[in-house]
Amino acid sequence: AIQLSGVTVRLGGLTVLDDVSLTVPHGEFLAVIGPSGGGKSTFLRVLAGLLRPQEGRVTVASPPALMFQDNRLLPWRTALRNVGLPRDLGAGGGLDPQEALHLVGLDGYAGYHPAQLSGGMRARVALARALAQSADVLLLDEPFAALDALVRERFNAELRHLHDKTGRTTVLVTHSIREAATLADRVAVLRGGRIVAILDTRQKTHAPPASPVEAQLRALL
Ligand code: ATP
Ligand code: MG
Repeated sequence: AIQLSGVTVRLGGLTVLDDVSLTVPHGEFLAVIGPSGGGKSTFLRVLAGLLRPQEGRVTVASPPALMFQDNRLLPWRTALRNVGLPRDLGAGGGLDPQEALHLVGLDGYAGYHPAQLSGGMRARVALARALAQSADVLLLDEPFAALDALVRERFNAELRHLHDKTGRTTVLVTHSIREAATLADRVAVLRGGRIVAILDTRQKTHAPPASPVEAQLRALL
């Protein structure tokens, strides 16, 4: 569903992505992990078509649905109407907006404006909006960063469930080794603009508390 070959992005004299090549098969759940400033958001922006690389080729099967790190809600629209935005723009067809709000636990907040919501709630509205799009490719940039631990765990389970249900190709940027190792099929480690490792979590052995993939990721970060 996604193919990058030799992708290099330079911003302000800095090489932010350095010769990145990667293929994400249709329906795969890929996590991208790495230190702050490693190029993760830039990588997603390239996949979303928001940034054109100076070198290399990017192919994404269909226009992706994305959730940005900074949410980008429209302040003059209520939560429900923010979630309904893709539909209003002719890009809906995913989850029904009301259903998407329900899924992220915001039933009672449909009529609230972003300024009336907490940061975590705004993140959930943005996630619901991404889910309301029908796109085959879902790009998520630290979608749960603003959530408290309990809610976060529930959403992780929902996200995985939704992925399994819809068969959507999902690329999730996260800072959590555990999330990456438990949610994703594969984990790409992006450091200094380069993919320094790709680990497959599906070859699991059961060795609690830390799975081998988590241990390997810890060693790489
Ligand atoms: P974080 O985990 O903190 O979100 P990240 O891995 O998402 O970090 P990016 O946002 O992709 O990192 O940024 C990677 C590097 O590119 C950083 O060094 C950043 O300063 C630089 N960068 C990003 N956008 C620009 C820009 N528009 N102009 C110049 N440099 C930029
Ligand atoms: Mg980022």
